[in-house]
Amino acid sequence: MIINEDCIGCRLCVPYCPMGAISMDRAAKVAKIDQDECVECGVCLRAEICPVDAFVEEVHDWPRSVRVAFSNPLVVHKETRVPGRGTEEAKTTDVTGRFKRGFAGVTAEMGRPGIGVKFYDVEKIAQAMAKTGVEFAGDNPVTHLMVDKSTGKINSEVLNEKVCSAMIESITKVDNIPAVIKALREAAAQIESVFTLTISTKLEADGSALCEKPLEELKVPLYINGKVNVGLGRPLFKEES
Ligand code: SF4
Ligand code: SF4
Repeated sequence: MIINEDCIGCRLCVPYCPMGAISMDRAAKVAKIDQDECVECGVCLRAEICPVDAFVEEVHDWPRSVRVAFSNPLVVHKETRVPGRGTEEAKTTDVTGRFKRGFAGVTAEMGRPGIGVKFYDVEKIAQAMAKTGVEFAGDNPVTHLMVDKSTGKINSEVLNEKVCSAMIESITKVDNIPAVIKALREAAAQIESVFTLTISTKLEADGSALCEKPLEELKVPLYINGKVNVGLGRPLFKEES
């Protein structure tokens, strides 16, 4: 929050907010924060831009506390003990062998700086995925907010909370990818935010991926990306022969 009495109206903080939640109160000649749009990312504080230290950190009660947990990358989720929006595996590219051959990781990365996402919309996408029979990742922060993992239903107390981004992670059989994509195409038209869909799978010995064919048949452009996070992962499994 901003201490009005301290603010000198210099406007320096306004462009620092990734959600555009800081504006000037022209009458009072001080900066103000739109509390509905603020996702509690902490950028305004961490930037240390205010010449008079008018920003002060607040500790929020549930359910607003969920905003800081999903939006501030320095905050560790109580349930998963991991900072950020997803599982550790989302950052280490599956070194523990979650995806067996014939299975794929399906991740919907929702929201973005400037847009954010409310859990109403996260639930819509999770429910669309659940209907196709995906299995949600157990140690993911969104999964922890679900009251029913078989339907993707999220705790109603947080549905109106807005966060910068939230990541729904799941595993499904490669054969199920067409059903997931069809369901997500329909659900995408019903939300007020954006999401990126990532399909992760092991490569075959010849370098091909089992998910290529179903994606080609659905006319989904395939961008093959490799990511190596050196030092972040410890292989904890042996590849089956
Ligand atoms: S905490 Fe983040 S969203 Fe909220 S006002 Fe500061 S920069 Fe903007
Ligand atoms: S940077 Fe500080 S003093 Fe300047 S407008 Fe923002 S809150 Fe007020």
